[in-house]
Amino acid sequence: MSGRAYRIAVIKGDGIGPEIVGSAIEVLMKTGEKFGISFEFNELLAGGCAIDKYGLPLPEETLASCKASDAVLLGAVGGPKWDTADPSIRPERALLGLRSGLGLYSNLRPALLFPQLASASPVKDTGAVDILIVRELTGGIYFGENGSYKSDDILADGTVKGEVAYDTEAYSEGEIRRIVTQAFEYARGRRKKLTLVDKANVLRSSRLWRSVAKEIAPSYPDVALDFLYVDNCAMQLIGRPASFDVIVTSNMFGDILSDEAGMITGSIGMLPSASMGAPGTPGMFEPIHGSAPDIAGTGKANPLATILSAAMMLRWGLAEAEAADLIEEAVRKTLDAGYRTPDIASGDESEIIVDTNKMTGSVLSAIG
Ligand code: NAD
Repeated sequence: MSGRAYRIAVIKGDGIGPEIVGSAIEVLMKTGEKFGISFEFNELLAGGCAIDKYGLPLPEETLASCKASDAVLLGAVGGPKWDTADPSIRPERALLGLRSGLGLYSNLRPALLFPQLASASPVKDTGAVDILIVRELTGGIYFGENGSYKSDDILADGTVKGEVAYDTEAYSEGEIRRIVTQAFEYARGRRKKLTLVDKANVLRSSRLWRSVAKEIAPSYPDVALDFLYVDNCAMQLIGRPASFDVIVTSNMFGDILSDEAGMITGSIGMLPSASMGAPGTPGMFEPIHGSAPDIAGTGKANPLATILSAAMMLRWGLAEAEAADLIEEAVRKTLDAGYRTPDIASGDESEIIVDTNKMTGSVLSAIG
C-alpha cells in the first residue's frame, strides 16, 4: 500500500451521464481500495445542466478545476431540451472548450471486440480484434482556414461555378511529431505494430506525416511501422481487423475510421475513449456515446463504456496499469457470467438481462 492519491474532476453531464458516471465512481473506489489508491472526486457542471444553472455550457470554474486536476472523467452532454439553444451556448460547446482549454491533441479510441459479444458484431469471423486508434484532435481540416466566395467562372461543361466553399488541411511538423511519438509509445506497450493512415498519393500534408513518422521510427526499433492509404484502410478494417494494433492518423480520417472500427465491436455502450495532451497535463476520459435521452432514468443504460473509460484513465492518465487491468478483467468476467444490459443482449437464453445498477454490482463483485 503506497497511498497514492489523485484529484479527479467529474463531469456527469446530462441524460444518462449521472447514472453511468456514478457506476464508474463506485468501480474506481472499490479498485482504489485494492491498490491503496485514494481519489478525491470534484463534481463540476458542464453541458445542458450548466446552461440551466449558469446560462453557459462551460463555466470558467469548471475549466479551471479540470486544469487543476490529475484527470477528468466525463459522462455525456446534451439533449433535446437544449437543441434549440443558440449555437454558441449549445451543450456540445462544452466538449470543444474542454478539448482546447486542456490542450487535448490526441484522441485514443480502442476498438476491442469482447469474444462474448462477437455475435453482436456486424462483421463475422473477425478473430481477436483489439485496435487502438490514435486520432489527432486539434489540427487538420476541422481547424484549417476556410471560407466561401462567389465565382462567375465557367466549368468545362458550361456550368457556372456560383458559390465556392473551401476548408484547408494543414499540419505542422510539430503537430505531427508529438502525436506520432505518442502513438509509437502506445504501440511499444502493446503488440508493437504501428500503422500510419494517410492519403500520401494525393495530399502533400500526408507526405509530411510520412516523412516525420520515418524520422521518428529509428528511435523505436522494437515497433514495426507500416503505411496505408485511408481508402484501403477502410476496407482492411472490415477484411482483416484482427491484424491491426495501433493506428495513428489525422483528425478527419481518425473521426471516420474510429466510428467504423467501433461498429465492428458491436455496441456503442461498450466503447471508451481518452483525450490526451502534453505529458503531465490532465487527460479527459469518457464513453464515446452521447447522453442517450431516450433511455435516461429507465435503468437501461450500459455503464461498461464509462467503467472502461475509468480503466483508461488509470492506465493512460495516472500510470496505474495494474488497477486498470483489474477493472478490464472484471468487465470480462461479468460478460463471461452472461450479464447483459439490453443494448448488448443477443437473445440467447443463457444471458441474464440486467439494469445499470445490477451490471455495476456485477463488476464490483468481480473486482472482489
Ligand atoms: P447517443 O449516443 O446518445 O444515443 C444513440 C443510441 O444509442 C440511442 O438509442 C441510445 O439509447 C443508445 N445508447 C447510447 N449510449 C448507450 C448506453 N450507454 N447504453 C445503452 N444504450 C446507449 O447519440 P444521440 O442520440 O445522437 O445523441 C443524444 C444527445 O447526446 C445529443 O444531444 C447529442 O448531441 C449528445 N452527444 C453527446 C456526446 C458527448 O457528450 N460526448 C457524444 C455524442 C452525442
